[in-house]
Amino acid sequence: MTAIAVLGSTNMDLVAYVPKAPRLGETVTGREFRTVPGGKGANQAVAAARAGGEVRMIGAVGADDFGVRLRAALGAAGVDTAALRTVEGASGTAHITVDDEGGNSIVVVPGANGRLTSLEDGDEARIAAADTLLLQLEVPLGVVTAAARAARAHGVRTVLTPAPAQPLPPELLAATDLLVPNEHEAAALTGLTDARQAAEALLQQVPAVAVTLGAAGVLCAARGRAPLTVPAPRVRAVDTTAAGDTFVGALAVALGEGRAVREAVSWACAAAALSVQRPGAQDSMPARAEIDAFAY
Ligand code: ATP
Repeated sequence: MTAIAVLGSTNMDLVAYVPKAPRLGETVTGREFRTVPGGKGANQAVAAARAGGEVRMIGAVGADDFGVRLRAALGAAGVDTAALRTVEGASGTAHITVDDEGGNSIVVVPGANGRLTSLEDGDEARIAAADTLLLQLEVPLGVVTAAARAARAHGVRTVLTPAPAQPLPPELLAATDLLVPNEHEAAALTGLTDARQAAEALLQQVPAVAVTLGAAGVLCAARGRAPLTVPAPRVRAVDTTAAGDTFVGALAVALGEGRAVREAVSWACAAAALSVQRPGAQDSMPARAEIDAFAY
């Protein structure tokens, strides 16, 4: 089994389904309400565990009921939560309104995620014991950079999802092996809307880039090699929430098992394509056997 450490966010998604989103000052009556565990860090951890990785999560939940549920959801997926701190105050929450057209508006309150400011005793050893470290940007940049540097010092592969998009410190990029932006993030980081040009620009800063292109698949680029596009399987998508996180979690497993890049990316595309065919975020992530059966 390949070992994966994830440092990142855990959020409770509070989702209200409404016929039409309220305008400023307006009150509307919703149809349904759901609480769903999320956060990019937790999503990637669950995706990697389902795909067959041995996963440890470094993060923070609040001292509230959501914190208890978020920890339990990770545990139920087989993720080791010994390095998930419980900190004073509220857990991270995402307040989401989904209308009948599938449009959404979201307010994220970082809560405990914002209080994950430094590595603690044992975290460096957890990172050092992993084959791969998965990072995103929903926790403070300082701790993300510290984790990436610890990984680099121990020869651990680092995979960074630059979401939400923001300028990246050079020390973080210098310790990143693989950057996985979606098209919007690639454009925000480079000012270039063409994914291929954006990937080429990013290769000045990191050795490898995988730009996710939604239903069009993934553009892979690495220094010294011709870029290649791995197509996504054609499926009927009903909910693409966390498709990118499913892709990254599965990719970490495949790369950790030593598969070649093209094969690893296409296996991870199979995982993401399975997830978009069913509703939910963590709930929609496929198990290894399903990915193997679907992989093309
Ligand atoms: P999200 O924010 O919803 O997690 P994202 O914007 O980060 O997603 P996308 O590029 O939309 O990332 O999707 C990630 C991957 O998921 C794609 O590269 C592809 O492999 C898969 N995927 C997404 N949408 C579809 C689709 N409609 N059909 C098949 N595969 C899809």
